[in-house]
Amino acid sequence: MDLSFLKIFNDKVLLTGNEAIAFGCYKGNASIAVGYPGTPSSEILPFLSKFKGIYVNWSINEKTALEIAIGASIGWKRSLFTTKHVGLNVASDPFMTLSLTGVRGGIVILTADDPNMHSSQNEQDNRCYAKFAKVPLLEPSDSQECYYFSKIAFDISELFDTPVLVRTTTRISHSRSIIYLNNDTYSSIIFPKRQETMESAESGNTKYTKNIEKFVMVPVYARKRHKIAIERLKKLREFSNTSGLNKIEYGNLNYGIITSGVSYQYAKEIMPEASFLKLSFSYPLPDALIKEFCSKVKNIVVIEELEPFIENEISTLGIILKGKDFFPQFGELTPNLVKEGLIKSGFLKEQTQKKFAPDRRTLENFNNKNNNNNNCNCNCNYTDVNKNEDSVINNAIDIPPRLPALCSGCPHTSVFYALKKLRVPVMGDIGCYTLGALPPLNAMDSCISMGLAFGAAQGLYLSKSSDKKVAAVMGDSTFFHSGITSLIDAKYNDAIFTAIILNNSTTAMTGGQEHPGTGKNLNDAVIANKIDIKKIVEGIGITEIYDIDSYNYNYTYNTLKHALNTNTLNVIITNRPCVLYPKKLAPDNQFKIDSAGCIGCDLCISIGCPSIVLSDKITDRNKPVPAIDSSCTGCSICRDICVFGFIHN
Ligand code: SF4
Ligand code: SF4
Repeated sequence: MDLSFLKIFNDKVLLTGNEAIAFGCYKGNASIAVGYPGTPSSEILPFLSKFKGIYVNWSINEKTALEIAIGASIGWKRSLFTTKHVGLNVASDPFMTLSLTGVRGGIVILTADDPNMHSSQNEQDNRCYAKFAKVPLLEPSDSQECYYFSKIAFDISELFDTPVLVRTTTRISHSRSIIYLNNDTYSSIIFPKRQETMESAESGNTKYTKNIEKFVMVPVYARKRHKIAIERLKKLREFSNTSGLNKIEYGNLNYGIITSGVSYQYAKEIMPEASFLKLSFSYPLPDALIKEFCSKVKNIVVIEELEPFIENEISTLGIILKGKDFFPQFGELTPNLVKEGLIKSGFLKEQTQKKFAPDRRTLENFNNKNNNNNNCNCNCNYTDVNKNEDSVINNAIDIPPRLPALCSGCPHTSVFYALKKLRVPVMGDIGCYTLGALPPLNAMDSCISMGLAFGAAQGLYLSKSSDKKVAAVMGDSTFFHSGITSLIDAKYNDAIFTAIILNNSTTAMTGGQEHPGTGKNLNDAVIANKIDIKKIVEGIGITEIYDIDSYNYNYTYNTLKHALNTNTLNVIITNRPCVLYPKKLAPDNQFKIDSAGCIGCDLCISIGCPSIVLSDKITDRNKPVPAIDSSCTGCSICRDICVFGFIHN
């Protein structure tokens, strides 16, 4: 196959962790790869689709994706399921029982966690799922390992009759590093012999056969399979000790560091002279290796992101080590945090330490600084975080933090502005439209999990605690993902609220992926069946449905007002494509503000369009006059908002 798109040079290739996983799965003979987009995992499947001979596609949600992977495995095919950390919650029902059934064709579950919640609603550590489900866990620490581990994960899956969890984090998924294709570091990995008791397709016969004791999890068979899963853990622990995937690197025997994933890279950079136990196969833990390491090294700390997963597991061996006393249990680790932790633990002396760039600003940082009134006086959200900052590197680039905002011309702007004016409770959901919750729109009251909005609206309606009718907003992709069932439940149970489906014809937040409403699948050239949202809503039996264009602000406002004054379950579908996907909208028909007439009332500013900025001009009453910059897409929403008629094109 032509792999020129990889740009391999002298058996080396530079790939991100996500690309490396895709390449490894191709080399591991994956036949089927499915998932639901979610940062930081979204790039794996599009990259894998460049390789020929593999079925690669988005599924409607993570649970369905894993179900497809399981079916393919029953049919002796190797399958990959990709998800972000919270997506594994959605797929956890089949996942937990898949641990009991085991596999035929290998199944690799790639979970990409998001410490610091760069683009997530929570910060869970999915390594805990490995223990919960009794399945093996691989943790790569760079692209080389992403490539290699995702390749051998299929072998491990089939050899031990288990799904394999491969866990990355944002830094591993999105960082680029060199893969040496002829790297012999892993050539010494020792794999066990295939067990004779296991089903085998080694004879070459991969025709489907029935095996209800393995795949029908009624209690009588599930009880047997649970015992098998527990026995399997013992064999996996042996593999963890002896395979060579977990490695001891002896250095200064006074200082030992047990670590995994990206934390290994930080620790190695800061204290290369220490002794390391690098865990790559981090569940089940290699108990014998840990005991050996701890018997030879005097002082030991565990460095890991998020939960004290390794630290707690080691404590079950009767070895008490410190980790979370020195390193935070939340957020991403950084070189600075690892350095600080090593100083606190007495491993390092402060004055001898290498300087790293200041850590990235966080929203928490932003809010703290704002509360200290250390911000700019205009509306631009600029905060001078540097005033009291002890920057460790003089030439570090300090970027002023800004709250994220909907794009210029985003079709959701008018809906949130109207909801704000109507002052109703709004149950929200997950997508880029969640930004409607932030200033200046402030038009969303909850955002907890994918597909929650309609269920939460029903619950709030049942609580009878609101004098006003409840609204709920959800994007088109989220509606397909997990919103449909709660709308059915609401209709079935005669709940009364206004459900708003923000249809921008894409999965915008994660990069514009396809979904059943777009009529395309992951491979853009192939036209899939297009599923019509309105027909689904009609099919549920809801009769009051409004199909509107949200660029028409006045019509949007009036429709919302009418729907929210009607004592029924009704649905508003707002239809306008996203301004970024599938193609970025070119600025067109741009608007301008008549600065001579403008009275500086701030109404147009309050819609939060990034194209509307403050100019140097002030009105007679000393009010700043806004201006529209060249990023305006010409959506016309602000024109309708300026009741004085000072915005025109
Ligand atoms: S809404 Fe109209 S009058 Fe008010 S600040 Fe904007 S342009 Fe000026
Ligand atoms: S027309 Fe107004 S609201 Fe729309 S993109 Fe331009 S400035 Fe923003």
